[in-house]
Amino acid sequence: TKWVYGFGDGRAEGEQGMRNLLGGKGANLAEMSNIGLPVPPGFTVTTEVCTWYYANGRTYPSELKAQVEAALAEIGRITGKVFGDAANPLLVSVRSGARASMPGMMDTVLNLGLNDTTVAAVAEASRDERFAWDSYRRFITMYSDVVLGVDHGHFEEILDTYKERKGYVVDTDLMAADWRVMVGEYKALVSRELGKPFPDDPQEQLWGAIGAVFSSWMNARAITYRSLHGIPESWGTAVNVQAMVFGNRGDTSATGVAFTRNPSTGEHALYGEFLINAQGEDVVAGIRTPQPISEAAAKAGGSTETSMEKAMPGVFAEFVAVTQRLEKHYRDMQDIEFTVEDGKLWMLQTRSGKRTGKASLRIAVEMAKEGLITREEAIGRVDPAALDQLLHPTIDPTAARVEIARGLPASPGAASGEIVFTSEEAEAGKAAGKTVIMVRQETSPEDIRGMLASAGILTRLGGMTSHAAVVARGWGKPCVSGAGGIRVDGAAGALIAGGKTFRRGDVITIDGSTGQVLAGRIAMVQPELSGEFAELMEWADAVRRMKVRTNAETPADARQARMFGAEGIGLCRTEHMFFDGDRIVAMREMILADDEKGRRAALAKLLPMQRADFRQLFEIMHGLPVTIRLLDPPLHEFLPHTDEEIEEVAKAMGAPAAKLRARALELHEFNPMLGFRGCRLAIAFPEIAEMQARAIFEAAVEAAVSTGQPVALEVMVPLVATKAELDLVKARIDAMAQAVGKERGETPAYQVGTMIELPRAAIRAGEIAETAEFFSFGTNDLTQTTIGISRDDAASFLGTYVQKGIFAVDPFVSIDQEGVGALVEIGAERGRRQRPGLKLGICGEHGGDPASIAFCERTGLDYVSCSPFRVPIARLAAAQAAL
Ligand code: PEP
Ligand code: MG
Repeated sequence: TKWVYGFGDGRAEGEQGMRNLLGGKGANLAEMSNIGLPVPPGFTVTTEVCTWYYANGRTYPSELKAQVEAALAEIGRITGKVFGDAANPLLVSVRSGARASMPGMMDTVLNLGLNDTTVAAVAEASRDERFAWDSYRRFITMYSDVVLGVDHGHFEEILDTYKERKGYVVDTDLMAADWRVMVGEYKALVSRELGKPFPDDPQEQLWGAIGAVFSSWMNARAITYRSLHGIPESWGTAVNVQAMVFGNRGDTSATGVAFTRNPSTGEHALYGEFLINAQGEDVVAGIRTPQPISEAAAKAGGSTETSMEKAMPGVFAEFVAVTQRLEKHYRDMQDIEFTVEDGKLWMLQTRSGKRTGKASLRIAVEMAKEGLITREEAIGRVDPAALDQLLHPTIDPTAARVEIARGLPASPGAASGEIVFTSEEAEAGKAAGKTVIMVRQETSPEDIRGMLASAGILTRLGGMTSHAAVVARGWGKPCVSGAGGIRVDGAAGALIAGGKTFRRGDVITIDGSTGQVLAGRIAMVQPELSGEFAELMEWADAVRRMKVRTNAETPADARQARMFGAEGIGLCRTEHMFFDGDRIVAMREMILADDEKGRRAALAKLLPMQRADFRQLFEIMHGLPVTIRLLDPPLHEFLPHTDEEIEEVAKAMGAPAAKLRARALELHEFNPMLGFRGCRLAIAFPEIAEMQARAIFEAAVEAAVSTGQPVALEVMVPLVATKAELDLVKARIDAMAQAVGKERGETPAYQVGTMIELPRAAIRAGEIAETAEFFSFGTNDLTQTTIGISRDDAASFLGTYVQKGIFAVDPFVSIDQEGVGALVEIGAERGRRQRPGLKLGICGEHGGDPASIAFCERTGLDYVSCSPFRVPIARLAAAQAAL
């Protein structure tokens, strides 16, 4: 078996495509060699050796030693040096390199091969004794730290004590003789710590370093990192051994890192840092201030340090050409490490560079325009979730922050504001021109006014699909929910978090993208939608198959969603239209009435309001499909709680408050989510459905006239479990369409369909599709009822479940494809078998989640529907799913 792959001198045994075998670093070193870039010669010990090592009790395949020796000899041939030779020693670096870059593993040992003999030869050959001893002490420190496990701090202590004694300030004050003393002390330290001397034999050093790389694959940090990022243990890591080139050989030498484009803005300009007379770790260690790469970067960053462009113009020009070549070759922004040794440029690494969401968008679009990649590739390169960063204000990453609590990142974006505890306070605060954050134990529909008046919402209870979360996402307002560590005492006007008490009017900041709650006001960065954003969206629209609709019920949401490119409304939750001002009173009147007559009287007050709302929505959507769902939530959510509220309703109804209080008590439910809600309301109180249907049809007739466009109307029945339920409700709807048709002289076209949000409905979808003209999967309730976990209460244990790996992600965020998803597949398949061409969509929160959208594409749904701010994310995710 071939376990070792050499590279250097303009060729290599490996290439770019052999990432699995050679690791990312090894494959790219081989590739750079192949295309003739200056790469110090070396070899890669393959990931298969790592696998073998663990399968065979941490031993190596028998052929390995000979193969490593041959590869070392080849480096010697190219460089004219010999590993371990006393007179002309070859020094090497040893680096790990898995398929995916992986912090937590052993990283790098430089200057390997030095000992008391070879150091003299290096001093002689370089005619620079200081350089030789400086390299030697670096080697001992690094090797002891990463291979032998002697803490780095010990070495620093020794050095600091020495500097103090000698009156030195910086490391460059130390001369050859000083470093020689340090080497002696360092080695004595290692002997003391380990009970055996520091290894002098270069062979022993080399195998020690190789072993350390392989062992680090299984260290605790690496294991944790792999589990967090889904990297299988079976991949293993490779080891790269390479001839040393020295950036610490005086002022004609340097080392640095660079990106071919700016990783935070995406600007097409070389970006990076370098240090003269330094080795790799000096750049990252932060001991010296790195210098900018180019003059342009120096100016942009306001740096007064000399740039590489100025300090070494010749090498800089060569370097720029190499970086351009690498970007063209890899067709992506590259993150590059390099060293200049005595005026000669060497490339040590290249890889695709990490970048912000903003940069990824700009880079993808510009590269497509430059012809470097196709539009399809550009679409695939932007993480839809990263668009979130672009659509919402975010906390200035450079701002100092004090975290006082952490909850779920329920609705992205960040906001600072004064604490309020009730809707009244929120509205009063807003009216007084203040920015407020509403803090609640949990939110209920009557908090909606307060939420609307607030810049952000913080709750102690509730999960990702809790009321607060759903509503906040709908508005694009930041929300942190389920912050279990806080205490909310609204009556006392206190929020207790992070061991401190915050009063009404104190300022806090919430970050709905991370779930952080912070003390005080924090600087924000406002989003700007760039030209690239619009452009990428257009490209995405050209390739996607599924339509993207929005969940919206207010004109503001509907307009926002249209601006973001929504192609209709997939879910209008009519209950949200009942919470404002007089409406909630009429609604309560209706619920608390003890007979049909009383209900009809209250409904008559609601009819004109509903009609006007629907008409506005239809007009905004201008002929695009609009799905209106009949009243769905548990009645309980509308019930008055306080005496004040009961008085108010009593007055409106002309009924005694005591009677209403008794009625409210009667309607109390222990498990309202499984209680009097959904189509059960329409069946028990048909007059509610009738009023709503009338409002819908009358509005449709009016909007068709005002816009000159017929409304693509879909009436949707919630929480259906059986065909019989749907039949009953549909009959009412159809009858009302007839009635309105007669009265208005015109019957609008419409379809009647149903939510599929109960397991029984998914299983009996064939039968239900005899009646239903479309299905919309309500995966919030379907998740709740399939897994049997409450949307409102699961936050208390879901975190633990995710931590323990029982769920990979919160199933209310990303659809549980094997469980809940299987029911969606069954529903889709059985529905379409009964009614070919049955229109299928999803309107649960999963409709805005990229992984769930990919699932919807595979399942053949016609559209996804999500909150307005997620529409762009869904457009991009749907395009990626279709590619
Ligand atoms: C659902 O259950 O997925 C749904 C969209 O309805 P709601 O969230 O209003 O219950
Ligand atoms: Mg539902």
